[in-house]
Amino acid sequence: MKFAVTSKGDSKSENLVQIIKQYLLDFELEYDEEEPDIVVSVGGDGTLLYAFHRYSNRLDKTAFVGMHTGHLGFYADWTPAELEKLVIAIAKTPYNIIEYPILEVIVRYQNEEKETRYLALNESTVKSMEGTFVMDVEMSGKHFERFRGDGLCVSTPSGSTAYNKALGGAIVHPSIEAIQLAEMASINNRVFRTVGSPLILPKHHTCVLKPVNEPNFQISIDHLNLLHKKVHSIQYRVAEEKVRFARFRPFPFWKRVHDSFISE
Ligand code: NAP
Repeated sequence: MKFAVTSKGDSKSENLVQIIKQYLLDFELEYDEEEPDIVVSVGGDGTLLYAFHRYSNRLDKTAFVGMHTGHLGFYADWTPAELEKLVIAIAKTPYNIIEYPILEVIVRYQNEEKETRYLALNESTVKSMEGTFVMDVEMSGKHFERFRGDGLCVSTPSGSTAYNKALGGAIVHPSIEAIQLAEMASINNRVFRTVGSPLILPKHHTCVLKPVNEPNFQISIDHLNLLHKKVHSIQYRVAEEKVRFARFRPFPFWKRVHDSFISE
């Protein structure tokens, strides 16, 4: 089996990476940064987001497992104290794979054939470069609302505990193949009206955002923030691809929610 180890870059994570790498080499696993079967991410959930994007071209062949060096993470749920247990499990145990849905984002541009496709593990947000953000929102090809406010956030179920939660979105169990659209500070008065609630879309539904005036936007894909000019539309749906996590022990999602947000 081929493995890679990614790190947050701080000294604690770097030290753990060296130990994990040496243990796995001693167990005669092959280190392969280009085509790993399993990636051990050491740091936090943010570190796992980077690992996901590093290997997003081979999601069907690479599984992820995360160790946290700070607080308990949703993707990074192993502790440094469990290092030996994890290494032995990777080397010796046929592990289970758990698949979570991810988000497909397609940005199309005015007067251009070109379109850009992205995959997000947590979410994609759209904000204006300047002035109020105004977007027509379409659900499965039908006009739904004209949104005015700070921006919109479309998240995956596993990303629902991240930015989406801060926006008042629901926490969605990752076994549900869905995406969630959440508002950022919508303008609601007698003239302008939005639904005001987060919306959860099933796999076969598509959400398309179409600029009303200003066509330049700041679009984030997880940690990556890019300026997109002359945008014609931004299309969101559940991706065909999935992210795969190597599971060596049960750690139910609701327990992770409890331990992260209520008490450990
Ligand atoms: P960051 O600003 O360094 O980290 C943002 C925080 O989000 C970190 O504490 C991170 O956990 C946590 N996080 C990431 N994925 C999560 C998940 N699925 N569930 C719960 N918490 C999660 O930025 P970053 O490390 O580059 O990560 C980018 C992410 O930051 C974005 O995808 C977005 O979700 C999040 N974000 C949140 C807000 C907000 O809540 N208001 C605003 C902007 C961005 P770790 O400490 O374990 O890495």
